[in-house]
Amino acid sequence: QRCLSLIKTTKFLNAYITVTEDTALRQAEESEKRYRRGQSLGDLDGIPVAVKDNFSTAGIETTCASNMLKGYIPPYNATVVQKLLDQGAVLIGKTNLDEFAMGSGSTDGIFGPVRNPWSYSRQYKEKCGQNSRLENEDSSWLIAGGSSGGSAAAVSSFTCFAALGSDTGGSTRNPAAHCGVVGLKPTYGLVSRHGLIPLVNSMDVPGILTRCVDDAATVLGVLAGHDPKDSTTVQDPFNPFELPSVIDVSKFCIGIPKEYHIPGLSSETLAVWSKAADLFENAGARVIEVSLPHTCYSIVCYHVLCTAEVASNMARFDGLEYGHRSNIDKSTESMYAATRREGFNDVVRGRILSGNYFLLKQNYEKYFIKAQKVRRLIANDFVNVFNSGVDVLLTPTTLRDAVPYVEFIKEDNRTRSAQDDIFTQAANMSGLPAVSIPTALSEKGLPIGLQFVGHAFQELQLLTVAKWFE
Ligand code: GLN
Repeated sequence: QRCLSLIKTTKFLNAYITVTEDTALRQAEESEKRYRRGQSLGDLDGIPVAVKDNFSTAGIETTCASNMLKGYIPPYNATVVQKLLDQGAVLIGKTNLDEFAMGSGSTDGIFGPVRNPWSYSRQYKEKCGQNSRLENEDSSWLIAGGSSGGSAAAVSSFTCFAALGSDTGGSTRNPAAHCGVVGLKPTYGLVSRHGLIPLVNSMDVPGILTRCVDDAATVLGVLAGHDPKDSTTVQDPFNPFELPSVIDVSKFCIGIPKEYHIPGLSSETLAVWSKAADLFENAGARVIEVSLPHTCYSIVCYHVLCTAEVASNMARFDGLEYGHRSNIDKSTESMYAATRREGFNDVVRGRILSGNYFLLKQNYEKYFIKAQKVRRLIANDFVNVFNSGVDVLLTPTTLRDAVPYVEFIKEDNRTRSAQDDIFTQAANMSGLPAVSIPTALSEKGLPIGLQFVGHAFQELQLLTVAKWFE
């Protein structure tokens, strides 16, 4: 009830697309009864969680913040949603995002932008002037980051204890950094994608947003494991873990990628990053500079691969099977075209066009195959660094703290989305686990996130290091 009433008082954040009030209250009551009988289902029994609106939820509208899926009610739960419910978690609502998770700001969905809760912190207001909660009356409110900005804002504003995001190029870690919460992208193949409406199948991973690293480990323990409905999940059993309470970091080797010192990195973020490296060194960890030489190709490589998979994925939205169908239906062709023009925003349509261009017979080798090869080089950079004895990489999550919405939308949306992913997308192309954790506040009083990247399937080690630093 407290979470539901907080959702009402923070409605102006626009973090939720759907609030599942009735079912949440019913689930909470059932959980309370189980608790009284001493029959709790697990760690998450009775815990309010939110789910990004690109995960299928049985009987609950799932929109991807797109006209294409507005009104679509899936007949089944995504595996991760089912796992949460099986543990007694209380599903409190579906959260806002960029349309089909394409973006880095949570500004591009049909339900309007998500507002960063930190826009209303005392320190930010003192530094940056009046900040009204009323629409059209303010200009300084900040983006929440994206594309899982609704989930990050929901956790950050205490309306739930954990939320699911998705992470294809950084969409869980980026908003986690901007909203001052923990954002974990697990290793590709550890957590089922069944029921997550795909963006880039070869990079998508369900993400976890929580208030602290321990909570992320708990939720991961619930979600991880083989799923016969997702053939890309690994067969090896996953043993849920509890993070140690006393951590000795002196046995770890922390790598600092030199190529991540790039133009556009704010001086404040750079300072926080350097200070973090010093902290590890002072605690006895080995901190070394490492090289990820193919970093500079990351953005273009991601662009080609992402749009190519998008072009193929979005073909399912044809007006026949799912969601929106145009009234313009003089011919099958014109119905397809009108449905997709009416259903998708310009970001989605732009990516479909680019992707189909890269996949044209005459371009396929030149762009798509080449990008696949570059992806391998990017992934090998990490293999080489980890083989040299590095346990975990330490990097910034984003270039800077959150920017005001009015500034964000001035920039071209494709460039801005691409630049903001520079530190995060390589982990998706390599399948590696990565976590963003909140560290210091910037001069404006806004959170700055740092990212740790670990060895594949070594979430225990990754989160142990992150917890020590937290
Ligand atoms: N910003 C990236 C994109 O728009 C990543 C999105 C994501 O991780 N879902 O493709």
